[in-house]
Amino acid sequence: MHSNISYIKTLLLNKFPFFGINKIRELTRLVFEIAKRDNISSTDIVNNIEIADYLNVKNYLLKLRYPDSYGNIPKNSFYLPDVDIEDCNKADLKKSQFYPKNIYYTQEVEQSSLYNRIKNLFLNSKFTEIISVKQFLKDNKFSLQAYNQRRENLFLVNEKFDFFKPCPCTKNVVCCNYSILNTGYGCPYECSYCFLQGYQNVPGIILPCNINDFLDIDKIKPTYSKLFDLPRAGSGEFTDSLVFDDITLFSTDIVKFFKENRNISFEFKTKSKNIANLLKIGGTPNIVISWSVNTERMIEENEFLTPKLEERLKSAQKCIKAGYSVGFHFDPVIFYKDWQKDYIKTIENIFDFVDGKYIKWISVGSLRMPVELKKTIENRFPDNKILDEELLLCDDGKLRYEKKLRMQMYEKIVNRIKKHNDNIAVYLCMETSEVWNKCGGML
Ligand code: SF4
Ligand code: SF4
Repeated sequence: MHSNISYIKTLLLNKFPFFGINKIRELTRLVFEIAKRDNISSTDIVNNIEIADYLNVKNYLLKLRYPDSYGNIPKNSFYLPDVDIEDCNKADLKKSQFYPKNIYYTQEVEQSSLYNRIKNLFLNSKFTEIISVKQFLKDNKFSLQAYNQRRENLFLVNEKFDFFKPCPCTKNVVCCNYSILNTGYGCPYECSYCFLQGYQNVPGIILPCNINDFLDIDKIKPTYSKLFDLPRAGSGEFTDSLVFDDITLFSTDIVKFFKENRNISFEFKTKSKNIANLLKIGGTPNIVISWSVNTERMIEENEFLTPKLEERLKSAQKCIKAGYSVGFHFDPVIFYKDWQKDYIKTIENIFDFVDGKYIKWISVGSLRMPVELKKTIENRFPDNKILDEELLLCDDGKLRYEKKLRMQMYEKIVNRIKKHNDNIAVYLCMETSEVWNKCGGML
């Protein structure tokens, strides 16, 4: 990959010897992206340029790279960072059972039931006491390669501050007043679009050993939103809510707590089928098990190591039988040629498996990411197709599809869901009130 990028730079420098390094950098990005998307040679792209001044060359390439948006949006919406891809940063997509080689723990967790359970479950792991994760990070350099090996390291700590807090959301959008219960940090799945890969600076999975300190009604105070019947809180922001549940058994205590506090909706947000504990203890309707869903093709191409759509939906069916409500998150909705047909099929699949009266909510959010994530994704998933589409830089520093396309996607999905059941709370995640109003989200 690196040699390919140097080759494009050389081609451009040979053709335009008077362009400075920044100009060559931007043009390299454009040629690289066009060649990758269209699977054509960069030599042909550069040879076909018949103009010589920089602005015209750039505009010519922008038009090729962004055929739908070019001319309709401000030019600074095109994000053209340096191309800096190293083969050694590729994600490890081999399926394997979670068995960390190293388990780091702080002294205070030694008496906890989770620490002792993990000691018995992972007899071959190396256990090392650490002062704190913060100190560990000071002593150990973090890199993308270390992130790629995060399944090898487990950190057991006591969570002191960040256990319960409002969802950070983003500026200028309709906030649904969601609150997050933090039951861990880091995820063993490998979704190409995952925000954690650009956010997490710990080369491992962190699990708190003291969740019971926080299952206290004075500490859990989610905010009410007019969108829902009850105030909502949930886990699954910084990890998958259930993927480690056979190890942690967290769901047992959480379900028990929210069975006693039915004036709050609590959500386990997951892609897993790790529901044995949930089924064993049984639920109440204010406890919502929700699955992120996508089209079968997008799951196959982007949600590596995760259960298939059908397995998620079968799990939803079982959870309903066990007394829980369910939810679904179409997030992220990804644009590609057959998106309409495929997303409709996913909606039909949901309603084939699940009676709409048990669905508490469905959220819809289109693919978005902080700009910095683009370089991480192309390093970790160099064959990804999600970055080939027209993602544009927005005011909040995130890359998104153009507004018209986003609205078209939401409208299609929301209308189809409502055709099945008009009573389900369908809401948009991280969207402006203008977009909500235009595409039938429940404002
Ligand atoms: S809209 Fe989405 S990002 Fe914003 S608060 Fe709700 S869940 Fe969080
Ligand atoms: S399941 Fe969620 S947290 Fe885990 S890798 Fe995928 S997007 Fe990230």
